[in-house]
Amino acid sequence: MACYQCSQTAHGKGCFSNSGVCGKQMGTSALQDLIVEINKEIGQLANAGKLTPEMRAFFLESMFSTLTNVNFDDSRMVDYIRKGQVLLAAAKGESKSVNDFASEPDHWLEVAETYSHAARQKNLDPDAFGLIELATYGIKGACAYMFHAEAVKKQAPDAYPDQEANQVIDGLLKIMAAMLEPTKHDLLALSLEVGALNVSVMKMLSDSHRALLGIPSPHEVSCKLKPGPCILVSGHDLADLKILLEQTEGKGVNIYTHGEMLPAHSYPELRKHKHLAGNWGGAWWEQHGDFKAFPGAILMTSNCLTAPTRSYRDRIFTAGPVGWDGIPHVQGHDFSQLVDCAVNKAKPATGDEVSTHPAEKVTVGFGYETVEGVTDTLLGAIKGGQLKDVFLVGGCDGREAGRSYFTDLVKQSPDSSVILTLGCGKFRFNDQELGNLGESGIPRLLDIGQCNDAYSAVVIANGLADKLNVKMSDLPLHFAISWLEQKAVAVLLSMLHLNMKNIYLGPNLPAFLTPNLVKALVDNYNLKLTGDAEKDLKEMLQ
Ligand code: SF4
Repeated sequence: MACYQCSQTAHGKGCFSNSGVCGKQMGTSALQDLIVEINKEIGQLANAGKLTPEMRAFFLESMFSTLTNVNFDDSRMVDYIRKGQVLLAAAKGESKSVNDFASEPDHWLEVAETYSHAARQKNLDPDAFGLIELATYGIKGACAYMFHAEAVKKQAPDAYPDQEANQVIDGLLKIMAAMLEPTKHDLLALSLEVGALNVSVMKMLSDSHRALLGIPSPHEVSCKLKPGPCILVSGHDLADLKILLEQTEGKGVNIYTHGEMLPAHSYPELRKHKHLAGNWGGAWWEQHGDFKAFPGAILMTSNCLTAPTRSYRDRIFTAGPVGWDGIPHVQGHDFSQLVDCAVNKAKPATGDEVSTHPAEKVTVGFGYETVEGVTDTLLGAIKGGQLKDVFLVGGCDGREAGRSYFTDLVKQSPDSSVILTLGCGKFRFNDQELGNLGESGIPRLLDIGQCNDAYSAVVIANGLADKLNVKMSDLPLHFAISWLEQKAVAVLLSMLHLNMKNIYLGPNLPAFLTPNLVKALVDNYNLKLTGDAEKDLKEMLQ
């Protein structure tokens, strides 16, 4: 296999053996590459004005299924491929069903050979190929966010105009098609265009969450279990969580969030369900410890899934684009099997369980509206010298040792600074007591939300720049971003599109970027690799 789409890739170069560091098998990887190629053909149809709503939905979900730690189930990959063939045939005027296409993975593996890493790279200059990979991974991330936004919109139809979504999806598909003729395009411009489109995607996801779930506000979340039957919800899908809360109302089952679902507690329409009882555990990579120690049923709504162990294999379920061979998959939004497992099969919590995360409680809910509400206090603190620097520290977490950098940076940050955080990178330091900013009553650590709430960070930074009558680049705003998978690539491209400079990125640089591409990012954006936290902090504060 040849996959280097995430930060965990083998030896920082690529997963080139029979299975990847994440557990993805060679065949799964090839089938996923074929799905990407099918979507490039759908991109050509979009250019020809032949895009259908089914193709749009297929594009978002099937691309999402190829992200790191989402779907490891070959039969589900084959289902996507067959569905893609039906859509391509329909565009040619042929009426076919999935049964007209082979169901054996081996057949599709032979087809996938044509689109292998080596085949795609042939005759292309390494820098051009690196840019194609950069754009492709950014599009995968944007598709994942857009999939969530569209899922929320089904429950809140006025969340954003259909036309806005259609334009963005068309834009992403156009770039997919352009990658079939790379020599005809400015590939760097295409990557930055992915970043621009992803800003719109993150805005739509932010708007849809607010339309369905209300305006996020600060809330203290317990990290302990209460006695009784329980379900743990991991992943990112807040729309799924809302439906599950409704289906379990009055059933005596407590619901807990895990990983990137923690920001659910910010939203009034989720919080109003008293059986949304707290958060359990830390970031995704701690799931073996956290899921084993959690006695109830578990639902994985999106990435990041890792190989389920025997200790919880019979009480975990997947939903949406997620899959693992042999693990039951929730069809539609019928969570009855999951609830039945929590009540009749899994054990109830006693309240004595211990997770991997040391905090007893954490505070969430500092979206842009909440921060805007204290703008005058922040401006007063800036003028009075109590607030000198703002850090954005967050992104995706992972197991690599180098990620302690982000904890060290936050611990050493001066009292005259505020830390905005988002994504599961926050679990590295959200147990820290950083206190308040001077006498302002504003906590120094402000949890903005999920990784896609990078949009909130942009609104906050823009708002402060406006009030201070300076450009955003003139703010004492420092970025320390941890990346793992392709949603982080999309966010990074968005930050570059917004001309954000001096970003410290870690724990490594993407393996798909060639030395020339890294140099271009350093020269144009002063992008830096995270190094020693103390030294980098000094550099940031200069
Ligand atoms: Fe390797 Fe990451 Fe690809 Fe998994 S997703 S095979 S860890 S590069």
